Amino acid sequence: MLKDILQKIYAGCLQIALPNLCFGCREPIDFPTIKNTDYNSEKGVSTSSSVTVADPLGKRTDPVFCQNCIQQLTSDTNLYCNRCLSNLPIGVISKRTYSDRCGQCRAVNYSFDGAFRFGIYDGMLREAILRMKSLSGESFAVQLGKLWIESKRDQFISLNPTVVIPTPLHWTRWWKRGYNQSETLAEQIAKEMKIPLQPNWVKRIRATRKQTTVSAKERRQNVKGSFAMKSDLSLSGQSIIIVDDVFTTGTTVNEIAKLLKDHKADKIWVAVLAHR
Ligand SMILES: [Zn+2]
Ligand SMILES: [Zn+2]
Repeated sequence: MLKDILQKIYAGCLQIALPNLCFGCREPIDFPTIKNTDYNSEKGVSTSSSVTVADPLGKRTDPVFCQNCIQQLTSDTNLYCNRCLSNLPIGVISKRTYSDRCGQCRAVNYSFDGAFRFGIYDGMLREAILRMKSLSGESFAVQLGKLWIESKRDQFISLNPTVVIPTPLHWTRWWKRGYNQSETLAEQIAKEMKIPLQPNWVKRIRATRKQTTVSAKERRQNVKGSFAMKSDLSLSGQSIIIVDDVFTTGTTVNEIAKLLKDHKADKIWVAVLAHR
């Protein structure tokens, strides 16, 4: 009884001193509830009580996002094309394969075998991506990557990937931002799936203008020849996931996919945080 009261006081003090704030909305999140079971040897019964406690040894595994933010970030239930990631019209049957073309990409040939997304570039996910690109965005990218793999684990596993690679940044942009957000996202996915991350297989050898600032026609020209990889690398037998943060027309990831296929990669999948 006294133990419960002391634990409640302790948890209350800690919550005031170290409020557990949601990474998304910055509102306090409740500490996890832990069930305590006390055995009363005189009466021969166990009594359990739920108390909200923080681990006094600092081994807390606090939730990083509140339920409301998790719900908003993982709310994409639209059916979409597994080539160009566009939403499919209502009424389209859900049984589609990775190679089925939609009205948007009927005339486009991609070098990758399929693509999938965490969500659409809107609302909270859009805010999250913008925040990830800010100066202090790296820790946010780590948490977003974890949430992504935790909520879409089955999708990642179903592709039997052997390796994960991020879309590389040119060093000049890396220098400005201090990290590559796609690499941080890819790292969480590789870690969770226990497969290697290969951030150095593909290098960006030429700085390009931001894809969003050029017309669709110019995009292909903009990225052409901007990537390179080790010439002696054979990717035979590899099923590769390319991780990127935003996918608009897929020109950038397609350029990487082409390069990987030239090096004999078996399968190439594109995983993006948001379709724009
Ligand atoms: Zn929140
Ligand atoms: Zn499509």
